[in-house]
Amino acid sequence: MRTLKDISVNNKRVLVRVDYNVPLKGGVVQDDTRVRASLPTISALLEQGAAVILFSHLGRPKGVDDAFRMGPVAEVLERILDRPVRYIANLPGSPETKAALVDLVPGQVALLENVRFEPGESKNDPELAKRYAGLADIFVLDAFGSAHRAHASVVGVAMVLPAYAGLLMEKEVAALSKLLTSAASPYWVVLGGAKVSDKIGVIKQLLPKVNGILIGGAMAFTFLKAQGKQVGDSLVEEDRLELARELFTEAEQRDVALLLPSDVVAAKEISGAAETKVFPAGEIPSGWKGLDIGPGTQGVFSGALATAKTVFWNGPMGVFETPPFDRGTLQVGKAIASLKTAYTVVGGGDSVAAAHRLGVAGAFSHVSTGGGASLEFLEKGTLPGVEVLS
Ligand code: ADP
Ligand code: MG
Repeated sequence: MRTLKDISVNNKRVLVRVDYNVPLKGGVVQDDTRVRASLPTISALLEQGAAVILFSHLGRPKGVDDAFRMGPVAEVLERILDRPVRYIANLPGSPETKAALVDLVPGQVALLENVRFEPGESKNDPELAKRYAGLADIFVLDAFGSAHRAHASVVGVAMVLPAYAGLLMEKEVAALSKLLTSAASPYWVVLGGAKVSDKIGVIKQLLPKVNGILIGGAMAFTFLKAQGKQVGDSLVEEDRLELARELFTEAEQRDVALLLPSDVVAAKEISGAAETKVFPAGEIPSGWKGLDIGPGTQGVFSGALATAKTVFWNGPMGVFETPPFDRGTLQVGKAIASLKTAYTVVGGGDSVAAAHRLGVAGAFSHVSTGGGASLEFLEKGTLPGVEVLS
């Protein structure tokens, strides 16, 4: 990838695609992690004498929608950067936006409106890409979390302007590439979360590289059911049972340990107040749903991880949003975080949120800011936004 080291930005106008897709509630930014993650690139550009124009998507608005304006993000950015940010509330590809940027000088920062307000954004409309390109001399892609999308503000504009990877983009690609090309063994992958179908590509890609896979979360029940186990009312993807059997076979052929829960914490409903019981994983009565890995499994999983030299974690072990079903995720998160000499990476929107909430994120070697993007990168070894910078 071409990076910021390859150019001089002095006195240049630099358009930076950032990932400011932050959680908003009642017009207030709930978590500024993604804004903070963009600071190294912004600071580097300002120090080198550039005028910086930022743009991002936010949520999934259909056209202009006041609930998804970037105004609240501009305020957060101003506070974190400790300098004024010129927020331009017109359509980002409009002549009004271009006019509002005419007098932006080196050292100044502007934030454009939500790119998803533009009808051509998701369609990667080349005309829109040209209008974005008309705002600056250089394009920098720093939105790793959006790099799996061939949209106008990610890929389209990079085909018109000289385009470079920002520092976050560079860091993410380097950190995840290590999991594909130079991972030390024992190499374990910890998978959980809601659906097997979301993770098949990653499992298939990583199977030849790893020593073992630990499976928790709801997806474990599809694997357990595929083995003929009784899973009660737990979540199962019936149309993935065959695939689960194929993955067992492939794991065996490749001598990869595939560990499933041996016990689960179950309840009749997803509620913190519900009565809970621990069942052997294959003997969950009907009416009961498995909502977390059980204490026995927590021990087995933690034990397996104890000697790991590389760990990639994606997907919570249970319904971590609703205590007490967060314990398995906490124990496994702690087991990974306590590995002092291992290379440890957590990726995936909910897993990263869980790692932060449980207070273990700081101990990981890398916490990916990309949910879908990190999984797709591991699956394919590249992304549309990486390709366009190569
Ligand atoms: P990520 O965003 O990290 O990739 P996913 O989106 O795949 O993770 O999965 C996260 C979701 O999976 C969470 O909302 C969590 O509540 C849910 N989940 C985990 N275990 C279970 C379970 N046993 N039953 C139902 N939902 C579960
Ligand atoms: Mg998720």
